[in-house]
Amino acid sequence: MGFQGTGSAKIPWLRIALAAHGRDARAYMNLRPSRRAGSAPGVPLSVYLIRMPVLKNIAAIAKGMSITFREMFQPTIVENYPDGPGPLKGAKFQARYRGTHVLQRDENGLEKCVACFLCAANCPSNCIYIEAAENTAEHRVSGAERYAKVYNIDYNRCIFCGYCVEACPTDAITHGHGFEVASFNVSGLIYRKEQLLAPMPAHMGANAVFNQDEVGVGAPALPVQGS
Ligand code: SF4
Ligand code: SF4
Repeated sequence: MGFQGTGSAKIPWLRIALAAHGRDARAYMNLRPSRRAGSAPGVPLSVYLIRMPVLKNIAAIAKGMSITFREMFQPTIVENYPDGPGPLKGAKFQARYRGTHVLQRDENGLEKCVACFLCAANCPSNCIYIEAAENTAEHRVSGAERYAKVYNIDYNRCIFCGYCVEACPTDAITHGHGFEVASFNVSGLIYRKEQLLAPMPAHMGANAVFNQDEVGVGAPALPVQGS
């Protein structure tokens, strides 16, 4: 910012103005004081004002506002949730939507979770609580040595970041499309394993969109077309 001869570099507000108004302002300020009135050769004040970037940008502003006005007269498209048709009550989802989690099963119906705690370790909100237990010949829950006897997710704290899904070595935990998790009772937002478990074998359960409880009250067990 060297405007030698004007002393502008020493005046903070002038420096800001010069930075904002760019080359035209610099050209004006580099004139001798006697020429700044506008009558002398160089860049008169009136020319400088006309060349101000804000005036130059009027066309851009008008263009932007034209889009606003055009959109004002377009038909309004809203999702009629929760009064829409179907079990989703009119809501629509992208396939990548991260809703409440689903604990998946393998092709034999066994739980995929092997209680390795990696999801809990990677959770930035510290909202996954797991208690592990050993499988036995008489009581086999997962295909590995251990299974999650308790698996809770506290949806008061979950930020749906997906880190737990990324960390899971067995693809046991995924995001479903469950989204109605608002509640007046915070204790109801601690989902237990029974609420998170996929209701069917993995080759179908991997695509399940709602957990067992939600399916029980009418939610689709398989993806709805267009959801
Ligand atoms: S989505 Fe993120 S915050 Fe929620 S349980 Fe998984 S890791 Fe934790
Ligand atoms: S959900 Fe996956 S990462 Fe979490 S304990 Fe089970 S197997 Fe490990």
